[in-house]
Amino acid sequence: MTTRVAVTGAAGRMGRMLMETVLDSDRGMVLAAAIERSGSTLAGVDVGELLGRGPCQVLLVTDLGLVVNDIDVLIDFTTPETTLANAALCAAHGVAMVVGTTGFTDEQEQLLADQCQRMAMCKASNFSTGVNLAFTLLAQAARVLGDDVDIEIVEAHHRHKVDAPSGTALSMGKVVADALGRDLGQVAVYGREGQTGARDRQTIGFATIRAGDVVGDHTVIFAGDGERLEITHKASSRLAFARGAVRAALWVAQQQPGAYSMQDVLGFNQQ
Ligand code: NAD
Repeated sequence: MTTRVAVTGAAGRMGRMLMETVLDSDRGMVLAAAIERSGSTLAGVDVGELLGRGPCQVLLVTDLGLVVNDIDVLIDFTTPETTLANAALCAAHGVAMVVGTTGFTDEQEQLLADQCQRMAMCKASNFSTGVNLAFTLLAQAARVLGDDVDIEIVEAHHRHKVDAPSGTALSMGKVVADALGRDLGQVAVYGREGQTGARDRQTIGFATIRAGDVVGDHTVIFAGDGERLEITHKASSRLAFARGAVRAALWVAQQQPGAYSMQDVLGFNQQ
């Protein structure tokens, strides 16, 4: 069976990489639609030409409603507001979703979770295999080192990124906090300045760097007396995210309604 995949945010940094990945895939999928924001000057353009690879007969549209009946799964790396609107439409039409958008408020997260009662959605702050393996390693490190270390998370991204700390850094913080039985909302410290006082061991600190064209670097530091463990992941190409998201699209298109993560796609949640 061929899975019909649509990409929204098609002209964006991730959108282009996602479409390239789908078009190059030999794993039983087709690029069935490409969507951009309303008013985009790219409406009607053949996405093959947009990607500089010759026509592929998929014309970019600016309204998901025009194509929602012709697709099995939508890959969405856009903005929180766009993703929420798309989720409502996909849920109403039985279309699965892969959500890579980051920067949701708690209220938006809840609205998205509500839609998962009607649709299969795989959402991840980071779709790379390496980062998802790092989540598992981080939980193990936190359990072993426990309250004997100070935990700090440092992330770096390109100058265009609009949210901070990154969704991946927050996910790493949550994994570590959960493993230690702490509530991230209570223990997170986002940046420091001035007379901060001595460090409280229960806290988990975040530091953010925005510079140049960095695709995405994350380091979690477990610092004790006499030694320090650092777990680092560095993405050198958005291809790492695109390949993971496309793998998730094939997988989630076959699932029952529910909220899934990349850990589910990779089988890390199976005992
Ligand atoms: P970008 O700004 O390059 O691309 C976003 C695209 O979405 C733009 O082309 C924009 O025109 C389009 N868009 C905006 N509103 C739209 C609408 N209503 N309908 C259709 N398209 C719309 O951004 P990017 O670097 O590609 O990142 C997009 C999102 O993905 C961000 O939230 C980013 O943090 C996230 N991201 C996630 C991962 C991951 O692995 N989960 C990896 C990279 C980026």
